[in-house]
Amino acid sequence: MEQNNTRRRPNRGGKSTPRSAPQALSSNEGRRAPARDPLPTGPFADMGIDHRINANIAALGLTKPTPIQEQGIPAIVEGRDVLGLAQTGTGKTAAFGLPMLTRLINFGKKPDPKTCRALILAPTRELATQIATNIDAYAEGTPIRSFRVVGGASINVQTERLSRGVDVLIATPGRLMDLIERRAISLEATTYLVLDEADQMLDIGFIHTLRKIARMLPRERQTLMFSATMPKLMQELSDTYLTNPVKVAVNPPGQAAKKIEQGVHFVSQGDKATLLAEYMSKHTNELAMVFGRTKHGCEKLAKLLEKWGFAVAAIHGNKSQGQRERALEAFRKGETKVLVATDVAARGLDIPEVAHVYNYDLPNVPENYVHRIGRTARAGRDGRAVALCSPAELGELRAIEKAMKNTIPVIGGEVPSAAMAAAAGPAGGAQRGRGKPMDAGASKRPARRPSRQPKSRQA
Ligand code: AMP
Repeated sequence: MEQNNTRRRPNRGGKSTPRSAPQALSSNEGRRAPARDPLPTGPFADMGIDHRINANIAALGLTKPTPIQEQGIPAIVEGRDVLGLAQTGTGKTAAFGLPMLTRLINFGKKPDPKTCRALILAPTRELATQIATNIDAYAEGTPIRSFRVVGGASINVQTERLSRGVDVLIATPGRLMDLIERRAISLEATTYLVLDEADQMLDIGFIHTLRKIARMLPRERQTLMFSATMPKLMQELSDTYLTNPVKVAVNPPGQAAKKIEQGVHFVSQGDKATLLAEYMSKHTNELAMVFGRTKHGCEKLAKLLEKWGFAVAAIHGNKSQGQRERALEAFRKGETKVLVATDVAARGLDIPEVAHVYNYDLPNVPENYVHRIGRTARAGRDGRAVALCSPAELGELRAIEKAMKNTIPVIGGEVPSAAMAAAAGPAGGAQRGRGKPMDAGASKRPARRPSRQPKSRQA
């Protein structure tokens, strides 16, 4: 079995054994694109990254390592397990992807049928797709093949592809378990594992699936776990999966990135849609994400905004995979300017043009606030995040501020008194989560219609 090959066995002792220079592959069979000329210089090459991958990433503009890459790649190249505390947008896909691809290239053999050498687990279909796109771009012109398996796509097609074996499998945990149970894939030869956005996988309720998957993996493996926050359950996950990990933190967990200008506007639940439309009418040409709590609420809000003339799409768990991909694509291209989303559908998305984030409903898990607003101010840009807070959400707002160790400046409305907040309804996030956050009053037209462009010009 591959995991018995000592060349691939990670150094678990924690001693420094820098990798030798990447070896040339004996075969270039199966190339998809002509390889770029190898680039043997630069900071990534100095860190042991394969010269062909180095040429690919240089062409993509990755010439100077980000902090997570600078701190993480040397430890990963050494074979250490890593616990990375980093949000998306910090360059963590390359931090784990580049050494992983280098290692697979150096191994130089095809995977056995129904096995994968490397497994990347991600909480959502969208994040899995984004990772797969990045990995393919980094690996272009090399023999390394990746494959993405997510729910909502044909399991038979996935089974057929896995029958040949795959170098890098990128999966959501639920679909991976389905495929394992059908014996379409075995993890017995998987010696490189990445758990991306691990805290969100816990939030979604994947802990049992992750425990099961852990038991199927070889003990001799290298595991990297990335998380933006470090809730208590993460410690259990970390103990289950990681051995003597190197900890790398580029942003203190739970704190928002600095370039995001944040504000909270107090408003009654029934007036939120009107207020949102007023805010958005000031920037009709810029991309904005609006977060709601429930699938139904997001759908309703998107329809309302569309009626009011915004070029809008919604993305949540009730949409088919095709609908989700089309909505994201249109948003990425700027054809729709507004994306209304639930947490499950939207975390981890990397769309640098997103200039505004609106928390239409405050999240009932405080850490999700940080993830949501992290959709803006990416790739060195600025961003603005506005929370629309109803009296009943005062408790959530304070919990968010506590988690961030910061207060969010008030930019509108009046801070509700404690008595008003209590009278407005239950403040407990979980309880509110079962209700309907978008109430009937939201269907009123805005008092001042958004000064928008004609729809045809927005699209
Ligand atoms: P991630 O945190 O992996 O989602 O990456 C966020 C964005 O940063 C992606 O668009 C990457 O292409 C980009 N990126 C990653 N590493 C670098 C780098 N060293 N220099 C410039 N951009 C980078």
